[in-house]
Amino acid sequence: MSTNDTLQTRRSPAALRAEVGGEVHCPGEPGYDAARAGFNLAVDQRPAAIVVPRSPKEVAAVMRFARREGFRVAPQRTGHNMGPLGRLEESILLKTNAMDRVSIDTPCRRARVGAGARWEDVVPAASELGLAALHGSTPDVSIAGYTLGGGMGWYARKHGLAANHVTAIEVVTPDGEIRCATPERDAELFWALRGGGGNFGVVTALEFELFPIEDIYAGVLFFPIERAREVLHAWHEWTAEAPEDVTSVGRVLQFPPMPEVPEPMRGKSFAVIEAVFLGEVAEADRMLEPLRALGPAMDTFAVQPPAGIAELHMDPRDPVPYDSAHAMLGELDAAAIDAFVDAAGAESGSALISVELRHAGGALARAAEGAGAVATLPGSYAFFAVGIADPMLAEKTDADLARVEGAMAPYEAGHYLNFVEEKADAAGFFPPTVAMRLEAARDTYDPERVMHANHEIGAR
Ligand SMILES: Cc1cc2nc3c(=O)[nH]c(=O)nc-3n(C[C@H](O)[C@H](O)[C@H](O)COP(=O)(O)OP(=O)(O)OC[C@H]3O[C@@H](n4cnc5c(N)ncnc54)[C@H](O)[C@@H]3O)c2cc1C
Repeated sequence: MSTNDTLQTRRSPAALRAEVGGEVHCPGEPGYDAARAGFNLAVDQRPAAIVVPRSPKEVAAVMRFARREGFRVAPQRTGHNMGPLGRLEESILLKTNAMDRVSIDTPCRRARVGAGARWEDVVPAASELGLAALHGSTPDVSIAGYTLGGGMGWYARKHGLAANHVTAIEVVTPDGEIRCATPERDAELFWALRGGGGNFGVVTALEFELFPIEDIYAGVLFFPIERAREVLHAWHEWTAEAPEDVTSVGRVLQFPPMPEVPEPMRGKSFAVIEAVFLGEVAEADRMLEPLRALGPAMDTFAVQPPAGIAELHMDPRDPVPYDSAHAMLGELDAAAIDAFVDAAGAESGSALISVELRHAGGALARAAEGAGAVATLPGSYAFFAVGIADPMLAEKTDADLARVEGAMAPYEAGHYLNFVEEKADAAGFFPPTVAMRLEAARDTYDPERVMHANHEIGAR
């Protein structure tokens, strides 16, 4: 049957209601617009229908309906990476929000979370128990979406990617089967999901390791943006000696003059160093000396439980219209830092909210035994830039992003799937042999290409 025949004869997605117990929203219905909204307000997704299943069984029913009626299935929780999906007119948007159960097994140091759980649903509870998870900079991404794409967090240089500390994945494959993928069961699927994301099925729950971390030493040094060159050179030189116990970020941050931004920061611009230290406080203080000697305008470093760093990176919590640019970068020389500041610093004319370099390397550069498809990240730094993309600023943001991207292009070492927010060939995120193995896994588990992932592997 041709696609056109399928479109003419298939049932309306409203028929999903008869087959799936959870909420269903179709175009033109009152709840549709609210249900289709996601974190990036610059993206206008208009799926054929939106379903909010409450269990793996209901997910399986959606899969059966989609295959039979010729729709694709796009799993989504928050929409933090909705940009690459397009309008979704031929896809059912499967929102995982309702599957948000969380349990923590303290003696085994494991968490089991539903696909709808976000880091803020686990990190504070684990922290109370003296445990930490490999979360990233924002508390409100889903653990599933973050982890399936890799998961580069505040302990990344010490412990590597979150994907490689997953112990089991409950997933509904497009054939409607509910599987438990582990190193022993459906091992190839278990490997592929950890980096290959939503290409192989809808994950309904994840189980992963927690770490015995009661306290960390973490904070931010704020400097006036006019000092960005001096500060970022100092930070860059400092990272050359930084042990794996510390994961840090050097960035230029320009807070928009919006009421959502706290008063002391609103409309102000800074050069910023953020860091999280595991290990001894005295040693961390000793290491911070050369950076503190620069005389920051504000120093927020303090000993705190893991839950204390939820807002360290100051990511926006409410949906915003934005556009971004990213690349993993290799070793940087002084000229690279100059190029960064020329493109994003005080005299660049940039209106970007954040242009940052995250220190990578350490455990991110070593493949752990039993690692998934994203075993390591290339390069030594992750570059990420973001700006407002409302109708007033979109053109200016595009130009600013192109300028910073161009400045960093000579140092490009690859891309990290989670940080790519536009349509891209996912094969480019992996070494060629890994990309081929992922495509073979897709052929096994999703031969009809039912899954509509943000970054598609083996697209036809
Ligand atoms: C402000 C901000 C801060 C961020 N900070 C970090 C960071 O520190 N470290 C980092 O590594 N990343 C970070 N990210 C990137 C983030 O990890 C990705 O955007 C991730 O995809 C978000 O997952 P989500 O489910 O919340 O997003 P969604 O847009 O809802 O999902 C993204 C994709 O994940 C897949 N997916 C989600 N849920 C499922 C599921 N249940 N089954 C199968 N596939 C699924 C789908 O392919 C989906 O298209 C950040 C992003 C933003 C916008």
